[in-house]
This record gives sequence, C-alpha cells and structure tokens, in this order.
Amino acid sequence: MAVIIDGKKISQQIKDELKEKVERLQAQGKKGALAVIQVGADPASSVYVRNKKNACAYIGIESLAYELPEETTEDELLQLVNELNDKEEVKGILVQLPLPAHICEDKVIQAISPRKDVDGFHPQSVGAMVIGEKGFVSCTPAGIIQLLKRSGIELAGKHCVVIGRSNIVGKPMALLMLRENATVTITHSKTKNLPEICRQADILIVAMGKPQFIGAEYIKEGAVVIDVGIHRDENHKLCGDVKFEEVERIASAITPVPGGVGPMTIAMLMNNCVQAMEEEEA
Ligand code: NAP
Repeated sequence: MAVIIDGKKISQQIKDELKEKVERLQAQGKKGALAVIQVGADPASSVYVRNKKNACAYIGIESLAYELPEETTEDELLQLVNELNDKEEVKGILVQLPLPAHICEDKVIQAISPRKDVDGFHPQSVGAMVIGEKGFVSCTPAGIIQLLKRSGIELAGKHCVVIGRSNIVGKPMALLMLRENATVTITHSKTKNLPEICRQADILIVAMGKPQFIGAEYIKEGAVVIDVGIHRDENHKLCGDVKFEEVERIASAITPVPGGVGPMTIAMLMNNCVQAMEEEEA
C-alpha cells in the first residue's frame, strides 16, 4: 500500500514557517498587503478567494478585497490593476480566474506588474522560470515540488511523466521537474499509447482535468503518483483525476483528493507574497 502524501500537514508547516518570517519582517518595519480581485460571484471562485484571505490572515499579512460586479468592463478592471501596480503598500496582486467571458484574461494578466505577479502567470515570470532566473513561480507546480521534497522523494535522475500541458499546471510543472534534474516527458490529449508511457514513470503527475481517469493500467509498481485534478463525483464528493483506491495498491506514494495538492497551492501563494515583501525591501 502506498504512503499517503499529506498536503494538509505539509502546507501547514509551510504556513507556520511563513508566519514566523512575516513576524521577523514586520519587526524590521516591513509591511505589505495582497490585493485580491474577484469579478462576479461565481461560488467556486468565492470559496478560493475566501481561503486565500484566511491564509493571509493566518500568516499575518493584510489582504485587500476588491469584489467587482459581473458587468465590470475590461477597461475598468485594467484601470484598477494599474492603480494597484502603483500602490506602494500593495506587494502582490491576484486576479481570481476565470474572468467573465467579455474580459480578456491574457490582457489582465499582462497588465499586472511582474514585481507583484504572485500567481506567476505573467509572461515575464514564465520566461524567468524557463531560463532559471529569479521570479514568481506558478503556485500549484511549486507546491508539488515542495510536496515531493518534503516527503523525502528523490527527483534527480527520475523519469517524470506529466499528463497535461496547460500554462498554469502542466508546462510549468515539467520545467520545474527539469530544473530538479528529473528526465521529463510531457503528454497531452493527442499523445499515443498514454498508458504505456505512464507505466515508464517513476513519478507520474496527473493534471488532465478528467475525473477518475487514471487507473492501475497506467502505473508502474512503486511509482509516486501526484493527482492535481479536482472534481465532484456523482455523490457530490471531491475526487481527482486518479482512481485512488486502485492506484494506491500499486504506487509507493500518492496524494489524496482532497488534502493533497490543493492546500499546497495556497501555501505557495503565501510564499510568493512573502517573497514579494522581501524583494521590495532588497
Ligand atoms: P486544462 O487547462 O483543462 O488542461 C488539461 C490538460 O490535460 C490539457 O493539456 C489536455 O491536453 C490534457 N488532457 C485532457 N484529456 C487528456 C487525455 N485523455 N489524455 C492526455 N491528456 C489529456 O486543465 P488545468 O488547468 O491544467 O487543470 C487540470 C486539473 O487540475 C483540473 O481538474 C483542475 O481543476 C485541477 N487544478 C487543481 C489545482 C489545485 O490547486 N489542486 C490547481 C489548478 C488546477 P490538450 O492540451 O491536448 O488539450
């Protein structure tokens, strides 16, 4: 049976470390706030936004909430982002996605100053990650690296297969594993022989957005399996992209859903906010 990688526990450790760091920074007179912008009242987004505000309160940084109506125009949103770019006390800006269809997400992401891009989605942040320069790294992939490292899983020289190539999970995930000296294979919806490729993985990272798709036939005995997916099953219970019960019997370690990757995303967002506070003063 696989070891269950406890994302709740590891994310709590990270938040406690950050809380101490924030206390030290504040003792030196360094302060900062995270601006969280939500457009419309999508219930799932509201839950994420609330969790982010709670995490800020926990580690001791201020969060400024901007709850804008659904009919907010792209220009109005861009103007707010520009104002926040200029505000000294705002160290990080987060625009909760998805945005309503009449607003271009790319335009908004690109309007955020790279110095305040705590989500790590700005092309400059992505470019810096590609060439190994300093910058904000997208939170979910960064959280997965922490989950693996803090669970004592060796990454160098391992074959890591990533399922999914989205800009916010799959692609940055593959690049971060490469940075950790893993040998990386990226797969997607056009990949042929997916089960065969996955069975070569020492570490399989599943970010495909297909509920309970990955079963035993995709897993090599003793592999580490990281499940990024979040869905509700027919009983309204949370589940991932992986058939947990089936895969747990073959893998050496696995993340559960909930309680695996999810809590790490917010912990790493907080990490980026603290990095922004530190860098501002550097
Ligand atoms: P996405 O943008 O929909 O990307 C899904 C990727 O999976 C695409 O690259 C797609 O390939 C690939 N794919 C789809 N079906 C496939 C198949 N049958 N075989 C192989 N590849 C396939 O999703 P995302 O934003 O990366 O998110 C993935 C999942 O993670 C979702 O369930 C999302 O809710 C969850 N998520 C969780 C967190 C967290 O904090 N836990 C954070 C972000 C996302 P193509 O490129 O060819 O279409």
